[in-house]
Amino acid sequence: MKNTVGFIGWRGMVGSVLIQRMIEENNFDNIHAVFFSTSESGKPGPNIQGSNILQDAYNFDCLLTMDIIVSCQGGKYTDSTYQKLRGLGWNGYWIDAASSLRLHEDAIIVLDPINLQEMYDAINVGVKTFVGGNCTVSLMLMALGGLFFNNLIEWVLFSTYQAASGAGSKHIIELIRQMGYLYQSVSDNLEKKQCSILEIEKIMSKSTQDINFPKQEFLAPLAGNVLPWIDCAVQDNQTREEWKVQVEANKILNSNYMIPIDGTCARVGTFRCHSQAFTIKLKKDLSYSNIYDILKEQNNWIKIIPNNMHSTLNLLTPFAVTGTLNIAVGRIRKLKIGQNLLSIFSVGDQLLWGAAEPLRRTLMILLSI
Ligand code: NAP
Repeated sequence: MKNTVGFIGWRGMVGSVLIQRMIEENNFDNIHAVFFSTSESGKPGPNIQGSNILQDAYNFDCLLTMDIIVSCQGGKYTDSTYQKLRGLGWNGYWIDAASSLRLHEDAIIVLDPINLQEMYDAINVGVKTFVGGNCTVSLMLMALGGLFFNNLIEWVLFSTYQAASGAGSKHIIELIRQMGYLYQSVSDNLEKKQCSILEIEKIMSKSTQDINFPKQEFLAPLAGNVLPWIDCAVQDNQTREEWKVQVEANKILNSNYMIPIDGTCARVGTFRCHSQAFTIKLKKDLSYSNIYDILKEQNNWIKIIPNNMHSTLNLLTPFAVTGTLNIAVGRIRKLKIGQNLLSIFSVGDQLLWGAAEPLRRTLMILLSI
C-alpha cells in the first residue's frame, strides 16, 4: 500500500521548489499525496495525482491519518502543531524545513551527502523527526565537506551574502517592488541629458525614505543596499543566523569536539542563491591540487571554478548557479597574512541544497526502508 504523505507549506519558496523537484524525479508515483494549507483550505490544490482539495493544516484529525508529514510552512506552524500531534499519539515521520526542532535531542538534521550514515543510524534506533539544516550551514558543508571529513580544519570564519528569497516569498516580492520604486523615481531624469549622475543618485537614494517606499518585510531598503543583520539578536553580540552555523554544522558533522565556526551574515539584493566567503585555518599546508581533489571528492555537485576573471564572473555568481544543484567553489587561494590560511568563495542555491533537496531525499530514504 502507498504511504500517505501530507505536504504543508507547498506554496512557499521552499515548498514549491520541493514539489518541483519531486515532479522532476517522479517521486509522486509511489506515494498518496495530501496537500494542506493554513490559509486556503477547501480551495483546489496543485494538480498532482489529479485535482485535489486543500486540507486545513490545523485539522488534527486529518493530520493524524498521515504516515509522513513534510512541513515547509515555517517555525510558527511547527511550534503550534508538532508537540500537540505527538501528544495525540501520532508516530509518523515528520520532515521539516523550519529551525524549531533542529537541536532537539530526538531529531536529526539531514544532509545525506554529509551524514547519510547518521541518518540510517537514527532511523534504526527509531528517530522519527528529520529536519533540514539552516541554508548557509548546509551550503557550507556541501562546499567544504572534504576539508571537514579529512580533519583538516582548525576553524572557519565566514561572511555570507544571502538572497532575498532566503527570507520567504513576501520578501522576494518586496525586493522586486523596491527595485521598481527606485527605477520609477528617476526614470524621467534618465532620459534628460542635462540631469547629472550625482543628481540621479541623490533622487534615488532619497526615494528610499519616502513613506510609500515598500519595506514592510525587510524593514529597510534592500535594493541598492546591504543589510548585515539576519534574524534576532542572541548572546555575545551574534545574530541567531550567525549562532546557528557552529551549532548546526557540528551537529550534522557529529564531531566529538566543537569545531570553531563564526562570522557575519548579511542580506544582499540578489533573488536566489546564497554566497559565502570563507577564511579557513587549515591544520597543515596543502598544495592547490590537493585542495581541489579533497573538495571535489566529497560530493558530485561541487564545481571547482578556476581562479580567473572570466570563469569567476560567469560561473561563480548567483545567476550562474540559480535553479541548479551545483555548488560552485572558487577564488581558492592561500592568504598572505598568515600560515595555512585558505580563502574560498562559494555559491549554492539555498532553495535546493540549502532547503528543499535534503528534505526530498530524506523522504525518499524513509520511503525506501
Ligand atoms: P514562505 O515562502 O514565506 O512560505 C511559507 C508559507 O507562507 C506558504 O506555505 C504559504 O502558506 C504562505 N504564503 C503567504 N504568502 C505567500 C505567497 N505570496 N506565496 C507563497 N506562499 C505564501 O517561506 P519559505 O521561505 O518557503 O520558508 C519555509 C520554512 O523553511 C521556514 O521555516 C524557513 O525558515 C525555512 N527555510 C527557508 C529557506 C529559504 O531559502 N527560503 C531555506 C532554508 C529553510 P499557506 O499556503 O498555508 O498560506
